[in-house]
Amino acid sequence: METVSGKPNGKPKCKNGRCADFAEVALESKDYCLDHFIGCCYERLEMFDPLIRARSMEPAHSLAARRFLQECSNRAVVVCFCHTQLTNSDRPRLLQILLWCEDLQRLLRRPGIQQTAEVAQVATALY
Ligand SMILES: [Zn+2]
Repeated sequence: METVSGKPNGKPKCKNGRCADFAEVALESKDYCLDHFIGCCYERLEMFDPLIRARSMEPAHSLAARRFLQECSNRAVVVCFCHTQLTNSDRPRLLQILLWCEDLQRLLRRPGIQQTAEVAQVATALY
């Protein structure tokens, strides 16, 4: 068995600029410590939430939102079940992220949200 050598620590660092912690969760191809993963989820959810509720998303954004929500909830579930050192403040935040993702995913599935390339063309033609 070979191990990765030459690095003082095998684990990558959190991608948040000022954070010195090791990364534990990846989100959108970036590695974060648990705290910054949660923070990043909230930041993105707060950004997508009003857009999705207002049904004012362009199809490209709607697709990005779907991808993010899927990844975000998958990661949050993995963290919930696999992370052994969750604190009493991590758990409710992770649960809130999961429920929030689910809520927004449900809203995105409503009829009336632009879903296809055809609709995209109509939408851009109107501007
Ligand atoms: Zn961090």
